[in-house]
Amino acid sequence: MRRPIVAGNWKMNKTAQEAVALVVELKELVSDVKDVEIVLCPPFTALEAVSRCIEGSDICLGAQDMFWEKSGPYTGEVSAEMLLTLGCKYVILGHSERRTHFGETNQTVNRKVKTALESGLVPIVCVGERLEERRSGDAKKVVEDQVTRAFDGVPLGGAERAVVAYEPVWAIGTGLTATPDQAQEVHSHIRQILAELYNAEVAEGIRIQYGGSIKPENARDLFAQQDIDGGLVGGASLKAESFAGIIRGAQL
Ligand code: PEP
Repeated sequence: MRRPIVAGNWKMNKTAQEAVALVVELKELVSDVKDVEIVLCPPFTALEAVSRCIEGSDICLGAQDMFWEKSGPYTGEVSAEMLLTLGCKYVILGHSERRTHFGETNQTVNRKVKTALESGLVPIVCVGERLEERRSGDAKKVVEDQVTRAFDGVPLGGAERAVVAYEPVWAIGTGLTATPDQAQEVHSHIRQILAELYNAEVAEGIRIQYGGSIKPENARDLFAQQDIDGGLVGGASLKAESFAGIIRGAQL
C-alpha cells in the first residue's frame, strides 16, 4: 500500500517570516493527520526557518531545485549536501517552470536525479506535456520520454525511493485541472514505463503525484484514482486552510 504524499511547492513566494506564520497555522490544522506524508517546499531563503518550525512534527521539508555538483564556482546554485544539512528530505526536480524559464532539460534533470539519490535526498521528478502536445495526441509519448530520460542510468535501489509528479503544463497555475480519468490514464502509463525500466514490484511501490490546479474541491476525486498517490500543489498550498483541505482529500 503506497502512503499518499502531498507536497506544497511555494515557488517564489513567502519571506522566512511569512513562511513561519503559514507553517504555524498549517501545523494546527493537520496535527491529527497521520496517513498522509506532508512535504513543504519553501524557497531556499525560508528553508532554515521552516525546518526549525516543523521540528517535532511529522511534516517533511523539501527544496525546489538543486545543482548536481558538490561545490565550486557555480554562482547562485545550491548543492544536495547544503539542503540535507538544513533538514531537507525531498527536492523537486525538473519542474516545468524550471524547464521553461531556466533551460532545464531532460539531460540536466537526469544528472540532478542521480546526484540527489546518491546524496540521500528523495527527488520529486516532475514530468508533463504541454497543451499543444496533448492536443496533438502526444501526451503519453512526451511523458514516457521524460520519465525514461530522467531515470536513465538510475539503479533500481535509487529509483524505488524516488517520487514522480505528473504535472500537465497546461494545468499548472491555470485553474484548468486534468479530469481524474485524464490524470489516471497518464499515471498508469507512467507506472507501466517504470515497470519496464525496473520491474513490476518497483513500479507498484513508487508514488506518483498529480499536480496542476489542485484545490480542496477537486483533490479527493483525483486522489481516489488507483495510480494517483497524492499531489504536488502550487497556488493552493500558500494558504493553510486550502492546503489542509487538499491534504485531507488524500486521507485513506
Ligand atoms: C506546481 O507548480 O507544481 C503546481 C501544481 O501549481 P498549481 O497547483 O498552482 O497549478
